[in-house]
Amino acid sequence: MKYSIIADAYESIESTSKRLEMTNHLVKLIKQTPKSLLSKVAYLTQGKLHPDFDGIEISMAERMIIMCLVKISGKKKEELTKTFKNIGDLGSTADKILSEQDTLKLITRSPLTVEKVYNTLDKIAHTSGKGTVRIKIGLLVNLLLDATSKEARYLVRTVVGKLRLGIGDMTFLDALAIAYGEGKHSRVDVERAYNMSSDLGLVSETLANEGLEGIRNFRIRIGRPIRPMLCERLTTADEILTKIGGTGSAEFKYDGLRIQAHIASGEISLFSRRLENITSQFPDVIKALTSSVNAEEIIVEGECVAIDPDTDEMLPFQVVTQRRGRKYDIKRMTDKIPVVLILFDALYVNGKSLIDFPYLERRRILKKMVRETNGIRLTHPLIIDNPVELDNLIDTAAETGYEGLVIKAIGSNSVYQAGARGFLWIKYKREYMSEMVDTVDLVVVGAFAGMGRRAGTYGALLMASYDEELDAFKTVCKLGTGFDDATLAKLPKIFEADRIDHAHPRVESKIEADFWFVPRKVLELFGSELTLSPSHTCGLDLIKNGVGLAIRFPRFAGKWRDDKASEDATTVKEIVSMYRSQLKHV
Ligand code: ATP
Repeated sequence: MKYSIIADAYESIESTSKRLEMTNHLVKLIKQTPKSLLSKVAYLTQGKLHPDFDGIEISMAERMIIMCLVKISGKKKEELTKTFKNIGDLGSTADKILSEQDTLKLITRSPLTVEKVYNTLDKIAHTSGKGTVRIKIGLLVNLLLDATSKEARYLVRTVVGKLRLGIGDMTFLDALAIAYGEGKHSRVDVERAYNMSSDLGLVSETLANEGLEGIRNFRIRIGRPIRPMLCERLTTADEILTKIGGTGSAEFKYDGLRIQAHIASGEISLFSRRLENITSQFPDVIKALTSSVNAEEIIVEGECVAIDPDTDEMLPFQVVTQRRGRKYDIKRMTDKIPVVLILFDALYVNGKSLIDFPYLERRRILKKMVRETNGIRLTHPLIIDNPVELDNLIDTAAETGYEGLVIKAIGSNSVYQAGARGFLWIKYKREYMSEMVDTVDLVVVGAFAGMGRRAGTYGALLMASYDEELDAFKTVCKLGTGFDDATLAKLPKIFEADRIDHAHPRVESKIEADFWFVPRKVLELFGSELTLSPSHTCGLDLIKNGVGLAIRFPRFAGKWRDDKASEDATTVKEIVSMYRSQLKHV
C-alpha cells in the first residue's frame, strides 16, 4: 500500500472540521487498506505505532528534524530554523523544503509504502543507546529522500508527535463500524471489544478478518488493559439508594492512583487509569502482589495510596502522584513514599472473564484469590439499604479523611461496565451536601494573555468538558484563580508543546482565545455554582436554546490530573446533571 494514500486521506481529514466528513474520509481510508495492514494504519492515524500501553514512542526532537532537512536540502541550519520559526510547524516546513526539490527528486524517488514507513518509524522508536541521534537521523533521511512534499509533512508531524488530525478513538470506532460492520449501529459491538483491550489495532484487525461475529466473541487478554469502569455522582443518600435499586455495597473512596494489575504465571503488569504500562514504576506493588495473590491468571483492580509507614495513615493524592511517570530514581522514591494497593474488583481469573458477573460474585472471587497483607489490602464493602446509615457512613468517611464513598449496585445486572461511566457505581462526597458542585476535571483548550502583574504569562485558561457523543470538547469556564505564583509563571512553558495556531478541530468554542492548545492537560477545579451562559458551548441548547452552561468562580484545586486522558474529563452529560441537581437543591 502506498503511503501517499494515507497522506491524501490525512489532508482531506485536516481540511474539514465536520465530524461526519472526517468519519467518511476515514471510512474510505480503512476500505482502501489491505486487511493485513489495518492495525498499522489504525495506529499511524492516531500518530502512534503501537497501542499506548506498549509505551513505545517515536519521539524525535525538533532539532533532529532540522538536521534531516539540512541533509536533504543542503541548506544551512540557521536558515531552516528561521523558516521553521516563521511557519511554526515542522511538518509544513518539511513540506516547503521538499517541494522546492521535487523536480530533481522525481527521477530518483521510489514511492514510499506503508510497510516501509511503519518499519522505519518502528526502528526509530526502538533505537537507543550510543549513536542514537545519528542512527535516527539516518533512518528518517532515508524516508524523506523518497517522500513527496505532502508525505514529508505527515511523516515529520508523526515523528515529532504532532500529527493532530483531530480523530478521537471513538471516531475511529465509528469509521470501523461503517467500513466493516453493519453501519454506525455496530459501533456498540466494536466499542465493547475496544473497552476490553484498549487496542485499536487489534480491534480493527479482528473486525476486518473475522467480521462482527469475531468482534462479538472478542475476549479479554492478559497484558491488554481493560478500560476502567467509572462512577456517576449523586448528591443525596436517598437518590443514590433509589437509583441503585434500594440496596447497595458502600465502600470508602480512596484518593490515590487507580491501578489494574494483570498477573499470568507470576508475570505481573500494572496499568494506570490512562492505560499506560506503569509496571516499572511500582516494584513494591509487584512484590506485594506476588506474595498475596494466589491465582495462575488474574486481573484485579484497586487504588494505590501513599501511606505514612509509622502511623499507617493514608496520605493525600498529591503524595502518591510523585511516584508516577518516573524513569529514574525509582528505588529512592519507593523508599521515600511507601504505598499500599487497596483492591476493589476482580475482572478475570484463570481463563474466565468476570466482567459480566454481578459485583458480589466478583468480590467473592477477589477475596478467595487475594490474601490481605501489609502492601495489598481489600476494600471492605458494607451492604446498605437505608439512607440514614449511608449518611452516617459518609460522616465516618469524612472524619477519617477519606474522599467519600463509592456505592455499587449489587443486583444481578451489576456487571463491570468497561470504559463506561454509569449508575452502577455512584460516588458520594461530603462536598455535595454543602457546595453546589463537586470538583470537576476539565481539559485546558486555550489561554488568554495576562495583563498587569500577569504580563508575560497567562491571565486565564479556557477550560472544557468532554462531549462523549460527539467525541469533542465544549468550553465551560475561564480559569484564572487558585494558581500559586510559581505555577502561574510556568504556565506558558507547561503548554508550549501543545500550542497550535487555531482552535483544535475537536474543540467547540464561541470564545476566541489568545492561544490554543491540543486538548491534552486535565486540571481539577472547584466552582461556586453552575449558571446558564450564552458564551459557553457545554450543554448548549440542552437546557435552553442558544445557551450553554458555565461554572461560576472557578478555582484551581491544585491537582494536575496527569492520570487522566482528555476523554476522562468530566463530561457535558455530568455537568448538565449537576446543574439539574443544583436546581433541585435550592
Ligand atoms: P474524582 O475526580 O471524584 O476523584 P475520578 O474522576 O478520579 O474521581 P471517578 O469515576 O469519578 O474518577 O471515581 C472513581 C474513581 O475512584 C476510580 O477511578 C478509582 O480510582 C477511585 N476509587 C477509590 N476508591 C474506590 C472504590 N472503593 N471503588 C471504586 N473506585 C474507587
